[in-house]
Amino acid sequence: MKKKTISEVDPSSLRGRTVVVRADLNVPLDGARITDDQRIRASLPTIRLLAEAGARVVLLSHLGRPKGEKRPEFSLVPVARRLDELLDPPVHFAPDVDGESARAPVEALEDGTVLLLENTRFLPGETENDPELAASWASLGDLFVNDAFGAAHRAHASTAGLADAMTARGREAVAGELMARELRFLEEALRMPERPFVAIIGGAKVSSKIDVISALLPRVDRLLIGGAMANTFFRALGLEIGASLVEEDAVDTAARVIEEGGQSLVLPVDCVVAPELSVDAPTRCVARTEVGDEDRILDIGPETVELYGGMIRRARTIVWNGPMGVFEVEPFAHGTTAVARAVADACGDGALGVLGGGDSAAAAEQAGVVERLTHVSTGGGASLELLAGALLPGVEALTNGVG
Ligand code: ADP
Ligand code: MG
Repeated sequence: MKKKTISEVDPSSLRGRTVVVRADLNVPLDGARITDDQRIRASLPTIRLLAEAGARVVLLSHLGRPKGEKRPEFSLVPVARRLDELLDPPVHFAPDVDGESARAPVEALEDGTVLLLENTRFLPGETENDPELAASWASLGDLFVNDAFGAAHRAHASTAGLADAMTARGREAVAGELMARELRFLEEALRMPERPFVAIIGGAKVSSKIDVISALLPRVDRLLIGGAMANTFFRALGLEIGASLVEEDAVDTAARVIEEGGQSLVLPVDCVVAPELSVDAPTRCVARTEVGDEDRILDIGPETVELYGGMIRRARTIVWNGPMGVFEVEPFAHGTTAVARAVADACGDGALGVLGGGDSAAAAEQAGVVERLTHVSTGGGASLELLAGALLPGVEALTNGVG
């Protein structure tokens, strides 16, 4: 069911209204310094739209895992400061979290201004999805906008709980601009993919992505495997993988996927190996059948890059999650960079290319291709769950749209 979005709300109805917005402002911090403000920037369109329409914007977000306690190292103060730098309308900050304590600063808000409340996870009720806490936030305004795609796979008080509480008051809960964009691209890729449809799944573990692999396999033309998880598939084929990372517990699962996947499942044919994971380790490119017992597989090899690159460039729909190797260490970044470029090239030729996953997004950044991809998802876990066919509680609780 398509959900109502903020762009479907009449802007003239927003003037003077208090709108409660759940954003995903969960940025990485080094002390009080924000090391990457991507998530803050991604949240700006919704905030701007509301402020320009004259709404009074009450912003909620979590940051890190303070585990229900007020811990100053997880304060949103640095985020408030950064928001104030990025936005024209003034951004105020309230050290209060729950709706009751925040009532006074909310009532003092002027039209077209923004108030950020302190970290929602300072209260244990947030992750417990406490209905009273959700109701206290809902009582602050008369419209809820959920823009926190990255937190949509969890039913927390400020996500699904708040949407339920707002609709229980007879008011609407709608998707923000970022949320709508995430849903549009991820759902478009899945619903009516133009073919060939190629999925690329890499990263550390088979176990964390087995649901996505199983869900995508019957839908795609090709599913290309890379990263450390390929080792577990190699093991299932009875190949020697030396000292490489492997998940012994997932070998049976990998064997089952190989059998079910048939021609659609594609594994690396060669790999880059080294005796240890370091920048100056001596590296070799070997066929997957030639891995020695002291070798560690740390990237896909040049023949695999060729093979995958060709399949990706011919694709019309691409879903990518997970790096092909240890891209953080230069000698093992090549496979991931090459795949990133192939996806970007395909997008340049009109393919729909969607990337999900925190590390993958960092890899795309490092490869300098982010601008050329159709969409880079801001939600790692949420995008994986959506691709695996799960319903996201933070989305399901929103008001249905028309059509
Ligand atoms: P994402 O965050 O994009 O979903 P993951 O978290 O699943 O990706 O995996 C990313 C991690 O996998 C990276 O830190 C990368 O170094 C690691 N990785 C990829 N290939 C290998 C490999 N061959 N050996 C060890 N680690 C690997
Ligand atoms: Mg990761």
